[in-house]
Amino acid sequence: MPKPITELIHHPYVPPSRFAAPQPGVYKASTVFFADVAAMRARDWKTKAGYTYGLHGTPTTFTLEERLASLEGGAECLLVPSGLAAIALVAFAFLKTGDEVLVPDNAYGPNKALCSGELANFGITHRLYDPMNPADLAAKLSERTRLVWVEAPGSVTMEFPDLPALVAACRARNVITALDNTWGAGLAFAPFDFNGSGEGVDISVHALTKYPSGGGDVLMGSVVTRDDRLHRALKLSHMRMGYGVGVGDVETLLRSLPSIGLRYQAHDNAARELARWLADRAEIAQVLHPALESSPGHANWLRLCGARDMAAGLFSVVFDDRYSAEQVDRFCDGLRLFRLGYSWGGPISLVVPYDIGLMREPNVSHWPHKGTLVRFSIGLEDVDDLRADLEQALAVL
Ligand SMILES: *Cc1c(COP(=O)(O)O)cnc(C)c1O
Repeated sequence: MPKPITELIHHPYVPPSRFAAPQPGVYKASTVFFADVAAMRARDWKTKAGYTYGLHGTPTTFTLEERLASLEGGAECLLVPSGLAAIALVAFAFLKTGDEVLVPDNAYGPNKALCSGELANFGITHRLYDPMNPADLAAKLSERTRLVWVEAPGSVTMEFPDLPALVAACRARNVITALDNTWGAGLAFAPFDFNGSGEGVDISVHALTKYPSGGGDVLMGSVVTRDDRLHRALKLSHMRMGYGVGVGDVETLLRSLPSIGLRYQAHDNAARELARWLADRAEIAQVLHPALESSPGHANWLRLCGARDMAAGLFSVVFDDRYSAEQVDRFCDGLRLFRLGYSWGGPISLVVPYDIGLMREPNVSHWPHKGTLVRFSIGLEDVDDLRADLEQALAVL
C-alpha cells in the first residue's frame, strides 16, 4: 500500500477527453443547465450523482473534497468558508434546543465562544471537561449530551489527551465525537482509525486555512466523515445555510495540497529543534510541545503519533515567573523574523502572547504555571536564523 501522501499526489482525476493533464480543471458556475424538465425534476441536491447548482458543488470542489476525504481516511467531505464555519456546521447539523455539547477546557477559543453565544441563544447548553482526564468526560456525559468535541493537542496549551480513551467513553454512550484536526492535518495520525485499530472519531474538522493552504492567503474549512448518515445530516445543514466556497480558493488549495507532507515535515523539524533549544534556556520554565518528554500528555502523543513521528510546527513556552507580562511583551516586540499575528501554517513564523487566566475555567482543568505563555508557529525560514532571532529577543528580558 502506498503511503497516504503518495496516494494524495496520485489521487485519481479524469481529465476531459484527449487532454491528459494531471491538474484538475477549474470550473466556476452558479447555474448548471438541465437537459429537460424531467432531469430538472429528478435532480438530487444531496449526493454527488450529478451537478445541480454551483452552491452544491462543481467538479472542482468535488475534486478537493475527495482528496481531503482520502487524506484523512474518511469517505465524504464538505467544504466551508473557514475552519470556524466547519465547527459551526457540525453544531448546527446535530444540536437542537435542550441538547448539551461537551467541549475540552483547552479547546480552540472561538468554538467556546460559539457555545456561549449562538448555541446558548438557541437553548443548547455546553459544559467544559478536563481533556487530560477521560473519567471527567465520562462523568459529564448525560442523557442530553448529543455531541463531544475533542482536540489533540489542545489549542495554545498543547496538552495531548488520550484521544482513544475520550472517544471510547463517548462511543459507550452513543454520543457523536467531533475532532478539530487542524493540528494533525490528516498527517500526524489517522483520525478515523487510530493506529490501525479501526477506532476513531465520527467527524473530523480541519481548518484548511493552516497547513493545506500553506500560504497564509486562503480561508477555508472541511468536515470529513466516514458515516453516510452523519454526512447526509451535515450536507442538509450545509445546503440550508448556503455555505459556499470561492472556486479561486479551491484552485489554490488544489495547487498547495500535494506539497503538504513536505511542508508539514519541515515545520515539524524546525519546531522541534527550536523547542528543544528553548527548553535549555534559563528564561523558560516550560516548553509545551507534545513530542518533548517534559510536555503534558507526551505519552499519549507517543502512542497515537509515535509510529509516524509527526507533530506540526506549533509550540508554546511558559516564561519563568520572575519575568513580568510586560517583559514578555517586550520579548515579543523584540522579535524581527517572528511576526505578531494569528493563524499558522504559512511560510512566516508567528508569535502570540496569551493570558491563560482568561482562557481556562479554574475548576475544570488545572493550569499549574504562573509565568506568561507565548505561542510560536514555526514557518519555513532557515532554522538558524529563527534561533538567532529568539536569542537576540531573549536578550531584551
Ligand atoms: C485556525 C483554527 C481554526 C479556525 O480556522 P479559520 O479558518 O481561521 O476559521 C479552528 N481550529 C483550530 C485548532 C485552529 O487553529
